Amino acid sequence: MGYDKVTVPENGEKIRFVDGKMIVPDNPILTFIEGDGIGYDIMTASKRIWDAAIDKAYHGQRRVAWMEIYCGEKAASVYDGNYMPEETFDALREFKVGIKGPLTTPVGGGFRSLNVTLRQVLDLYQCIRPVRYYNGVPSPLKNPQEIDIVIFRENTEDIYAGIEFEAGTPEQAKLEKFLREEMGATGFVPGSGLGIKPISEFGSKRLIRAAIRYAIDRKRKSVTLVHKGNIQKFTEGAFQRWGYELAATEFPEQTISWAEVEKHHGGKVPEGKVLIQDTIADIMFQKMLLRPSEHDVIATTNLNGDYLSDAIAAEVGGVGIAPGANVGDEVALFEATHGTAPKYTNLDKVNPGSLLFSGVMMLEHIGWFEAADLITRAYERTIERKIVTYDFARQMEGAREVRTSEFATAVIDNMSA
Ligand code: NAP
Repeated sequence: MGYDKVTVPENGEKIRFVDGKMIVPDNPILTFIEGDGIGYDIMTASKRIWDAAIDKAYHGQRRVAWMEIYCGEKAASVYDGNYMPEETFDALREFKVGIKGPLTTPVGGGFRSLNVTLRQVLDLYQCIRPVRYYNGVPSPLKNPQEIDIVIFRENTEDIYAGIEFEAGTPEQAKLEKFLREEMGATGFVPGSGLGIKPISEFGSKRLIRAAIRYAIDRKRKSVTLVHKGNIQKFTEGAFQRWGYELAATEFPEQTISWAEVEKHHGGKVPEGKVLIQDTIADIMFQKMLLRPSEHDVIATTNLNGDYLSDAIAAEVGGVGIAPGANVGDEVALFEATHGTAPKYTNLDKVNPGSLLFSGVMMLEHIGWFEAADLITRAYERTIERKIVTYDFARQMEGAREVRTSEFATAVIDNMSA
């Protein structure tokens, strides 16, 4: 496919899918969106680290051909005011894997969030947020090393579908009349704003399927279905029911439910099986503070996942290092989970950790685990040596505060340490 403003690197090859299986060449073209605000600083630092790790792990046998695509303010300058050019979607569809810095959502004027649009248009239905502790990172917990959770948040349904009717509008009045007169739903104050929460079997199952596959592939212990089914029986409750149903029908050999473990195995999960369990959303927040080691992979609905992922990330370093990915059946877009932090733009100051570890997820996604591990270990060594950016420096005694670029150099140096 020809592109107008995007230059396809000549020294790289496309990632392809054959019969649903991803084929990754040794010189894959990976796309990147620099991002607004602090995007330039963290993308520049992270790319140096990713490239250094790949070089060190594969001695030049493997390398990434980076291809810049545009979204947000940089897109507006390249594409004459267009914040979200069509060829950005085309490039992601064609080249399959990309990483993005944070994007400003311009306020007012009918602008949709660029991030939400990317997820919806490309049907990136899994939002994956791994949250784990890295030695030396400041944490308010007594035993932060117990946190090693991977959250699969459904990314397309729930109240994020945007079906809402404002109080005082004719649409609200029409829906209210229908609810009262035809559905017998009377338990709400007349004239209330109304919102609709769609949760489908298709949407729930494809997300839970991805979470279970991940748990099996990565040899994780359990998948916890987090829901509010005690109150919202036909949406959140159905999510839980469909989850157990899917595990029993599609993964009968690899998984076992908690009910079966109690009934047939004396409360002990048989070797090699992934436990499928569930928890009500509100109690999950308490468990994540008091007994996080009881959970491993989490599959949950959109709003629960939104709250839960930020809350758990805050226990082990916060938004500065929490990575994330939005993944569909073929396209995967990895992203920093924080915003553009505009007051730090071009100050070479902020923590590149969130984007850096999103890149580590990307390397794992394409099967380059050796490079991913090198980065994780070098990062830990750097933090243990108390070489940190300002956000960690203010929480650590005796830390040496460095710039974003200096932090990247320290991580690269620590790959050989
Ligand atoms: P933000 O950009 O995430 O920044 C909030 C605060 O978080 C910063 O002031 C800073 O706290 C801390 N922080 C963020 N990134 C950091 C990093 N890399 N290292 C260290 N600390 C970091 O949130 P916001 O100010 O609410 O949003 C600004 C813009 O970003 C908005 O236009 C919003 O729409 C957009 N946004 C984009 C995304 C995305 O692209 N995924 C996500 C959220 C928001 P301290 O100043 O206290 O140190």
